[in-house]
Amino acid sequence: MSPSVQPRERIERGVEETTCCIVGGGPAGAMLALLLARQGVEVTLLEAHKDFERYFRGDTLHASAMEILDEIGLADRLLELQHAKVSHFTVPTRDGPFAFDLFAGLKTKFPYIVVMAQSRFLEFITEEAKRYPNFRLVMGARVEELLEERGVVRGVRYRKRDGWHEVRATLTVGTDGRFSKVRKLAGFEPIKTSSPIDVLWFRVSRSEGDPREALAARVGSGLFMVFIDRFDYWQVGCTILKGGYKGVRAAGLDRLRRSLAAVAPEWADRFDELTEWKQIPVLSVEISRLKRWHRLGLLLIGDAAHVMSPLGGVGINYAIQDAVVASNVLGEKLGTGTPLRERDLAEVQRRRELPTRAIQAFQALGQKGVASGVLRSKGEGAFAVPRFAVPLLRNRRLLAIPARFLSFGLLSPHVEVGKATLTQAADVPLSSRSPR
Ligand SMILES: Cc1cc2nc3c(=O)[nH]c(=O)nc-3n(C[C@H](O)[C@H](O)[C@H](O)COP(=O)(O)OP(=O)(O)OC[C@H]3O[C@@H](n4cnc5c(N)ncnc54)[C@H](O)[C@@H]3O)c2cc1C
Repeated sequence: MSPSVQPRERIERGVEETTCCIVGGGPAGAMLALLLARQGVEVTLLEAHKDFERYFRGDTLHASAMEILDEIGLADRLLELQHAKVSHFTVPTRDGPFAFDLFAGLKTKFPYIVVMAQSRFLEFITEEAKRYPNFRLVMGARVEELLEERGVVRGVRYRKRDGWHEVRATLTVGTDGRFSKVRKLAGFEPIKTSSPIDVLWFRVSRSEGDPREALAARVGSGLFMVFIDRFDYWQVGCTILKGGYKGVRAAGLDRLRRSLAAVAPEWADRFDELTEWKQIPVLSVEISRLKRWHRLGLLLIGDAAHVMSPLGGVGINYAIQDAVVASNVLGEKLGTGTPLRERDLAEVQRRRELPTRAIQAFQALGQKGVASGVLRSKGEGAFAVPRFAVPLLRNRRLLAIPARFLSFGLLSPHVEVGKATLTQAADVPLSSRSPR
């Protein structure tokens, strides 16, 4: 509760009853809401922002996420939205740039990374969920309190422009991301792994002659840059060594612009657009995880349970996989009103913990590699992939091993339940749908 607001002075606008209250409309929350809604579960999704546009957003959907969407019949329609497919990467070697197809040896219908604005993806998923009358989306709803009765979480209180609201629920799911309020309110403390890197995050405009890569990487001068084609502009993530931001600022904007231009000359003229430091926020890269993802009446998934590093661009996919497992394990019980036990919630964590820990270990290792690449690129010699690694990049079969791990991780889940019990949204008469 806000310290400045006394309970009796609060404007209470209403109390709603639902079966599952999901806090946070990111990939984890939106997907879980859709998957439960398809099973006929009453779901309320609360999102703090008024829309899905967000500055710090990732944009990559790997094969695992696309296969999940395919299982529920949405992949083809999603691919009708503006996107790019990325399968080829170019790395610097001592003999010049080397291009390879990372996913050539992968057995999947989607041997590429789909790069799509996350806001479009979230709009698509929530629009799909709206086809079910048992789904309710509340935008601009900032959750600030948990409702608890004798140690059991019974829902949340949220604030909207018109005052306080209450949602009472059989199950509350925290999907409110890396700074999770729900996690904090529940008294959970994440275990953090120290990270050797931070990221400068900024955008520059597009120009006719720009590279055609939807995802491009450049290394040099102590910087590791990733360019994401967002069609109207380039989103740039520029890795620096942890704690290096003060030094970057002290050296001045002009120096930064020159370094960026030296590393990525194709975009050199565009760095002149960076005229103020507020255009270049720094993201503190973090990897963390909760020891316990649940309490009676409460489950945490996605970044709320395990903060992912941007490395590998997999966080969205793990959030979606968590949602699939939560829906597989809990959907039927929620749909039929069977009481949930804590062991049901623990089962979600049990199935997701190993895959999450494995990818986080990989990310921690990758971050070290990036940090050492960044360090080496400060020196005289240009950064290059070691000679021994080039034959590996040429070998489809060998390449399929890391490609598979990146695309699917361990124990990649499938949508198990609900196929028989699905509510057919198309069969629901519009008149019976709840107003929004
Ligand atoms: C700069 C950056 C770049 C990244 N790039 C990629 C990438 O390219 N590919 C990739 O796969 N991953 C990427 N990631 C990681 C990825 O974004 C996350 O792992 C993923 O978004 C986690 O999904 P989530 O649904 O758990 O949480 P989030 O996406 O963080 O969603 C949480 C939602 O909860 C809402 N919320 C927060 N507090 C409240 C509250 N109190 N009440 C109601 N709602 C609330 C937020 O507004 C937000 O919409 C990146 C991360 C960062 C920071």
